[in-house]
Amino acid sequence: MTVRTRIAPSPTGFLHLGTARTALYSWAYARHHGGQFVLRIEDTDVARSTQDSVQQILASMRWLGLDADEGPVYQMQRLARYHEVAEQLIAAGLAYRCWCTPEELDAMREAQRARGEKTHYDGRWRPEPGKVLPPVPAGVKPVVRFRNPSDGEVSWNDLVKGPITIANREIDDLIILRHPPEEATAELPEAARTLGVPTYNYAVVVDDWDMRITHVFRGDEHVNNTPWQINIFRAIMSLPEGTIGMLARDQRLPQYGHLPIILGDDGLKLSKRRGAVSVTAYEEAGYLPEAMLNYLARLGWSHGDEELFSREQMVAWFDGSHLSKSPAQWDPAKLAWVNAHYLKQADDARLAALVAAQLRARGAPEVEALVAGPLAPACALFKDRCATVVELADWVAMLVVAVAPSQADLDTHVTEAVKPALRTLRDRLSSVDWDRTTIAQAMKETLAAHTLKMPQLAPAVRVLVCGRAQTPSIDAVLALFTRERVLERLQHV
Ligand code: GLU
Repeated sequence: MTVRTRIAPSPTGFLHLGTARTALYSWAYARHHGGQFVLRIEDTDVARSTQDSVQQILASMRWLGLDADEGPVYQMQRLARYHEVAEQLIAAGLAYRCWCTPEELDAMREAQRARGEKTHYDGRWRPEPGKVLPPVPAGVKPVVRFRNPSDGEVSWNDLVKGPITIANREIDDLIILRHPPEEATAELPEAARTLGVPTYNYAVVVDDWDMRITHVFRGDEHVNNTPWQINIFRAIMSLPEGTIGMLARDQRLPQYGHLPIILGDDGLKLSKRRGAVSVTAYEEAGYLPEAMLNYLARLGWSHGDEELFSREQMVAWFDGSHLSKSPAQWDPAKLAWVNAHYLKQADDARLAALVAAQLRARGAPEVEALVAGPLAPACALFKDRCATVVELADWVAMLVVAVAPSQADLDTHVTEAVKPALRTLRDRLSSVDWDRTTIAQAMKETLAAHTLKMPQLAPAVRVLVCGRAQTPSIDAVLALFTRERVLERLQHV
């Protein structure tokens, strides 16, 4: 059996961190087993799906480097297939048309509530031997319902949660093809308008079946859908030979693994209202994809005590075991720590390109001169002090953007005792060769001439030139600037 996994995002927003984690696990599991990973876009919610969102999702998947072997497959391009399978299910008595109007369904639920019952579809259009169905009303477009088994139970051994069993009497006859609201149908193909659009639980099954998916990882919020999906699977598997054309009879149900939700650092479900939840937001905030992957991997999975590992290590280790049953908590401080680790390791030319993009987006001046000049060495010098590319850009920005030292730093470091030395230093720097060694020499000579110590002079230079009292070695930092800029920033003493 070839392992085949998939990620199936709905294009109704950015790629959510939870979906990114599911994608990572599905990808790593497929890679671990030498299998295949499929990307499917579940765009059947026509009122909420957007092309923009599809593009964002694809871009985030690319950014994370979660390469799919197949896809993106778009569900809305597979309507004919859903219609075909639905007709086969209807012909086999495993699905049926239901002409209930929304008003009728409302009244049905109202009456059930009044009787103190749990609301459910009462099966009025469900064919039974000997049962006389109501006359088909004129002018009503029917939906198609799945004829769920009325007794017995559905069980599966969840890869994360362990054995789960649900009684079939708890499960309604689910709508599998329905008609979207009029206003959302204008641009839909004719077939969607006449026959309807598949619902999530149905399209997922037809797709997972057609795509021969063997392992489904997804969020906990879908665990209640799985009994329906398993029943629809079994119905499809029971269709007579030939009706499912291209499909092999040896195919089995996928194995399901439902991953616990991710909690925000406040212990509540990670949500848009309480902070960034999209992969894009972290890309923009200056996180590196390898850090995101490493961090996401540990949110719900472990390999011993390992905290920092590469994609290759994760693939080698990710065999579907050691998945956590309890929700993981999003920890921004840990993510920053992981990112800082990868930032330190990152190639300086790569960081330079990322920082240049940040600076361009901020409208910073002279970015191209930086790129041609000291940007990569500046990244090398500052990256140890940064958690994100944005912080790194903040450091690099001082090379081209005016700095504003705080009054407190000026008062503490740029004292009357140091000012004469600062003036001497400025004079010396105006004529020496502009490299780190010569700058260091000029500082030493200045200290000797004024009988001062480095801890008195260096912070004053830092405050004036860099706008902050702490930096890496001041001679190395000054060498990154143009001489003119250093002289200009030292001139007001
Ligand atoms: N489109 C569903 C979602 O984004 C996919 C769920 C599944 O993997 O079956 O939640």
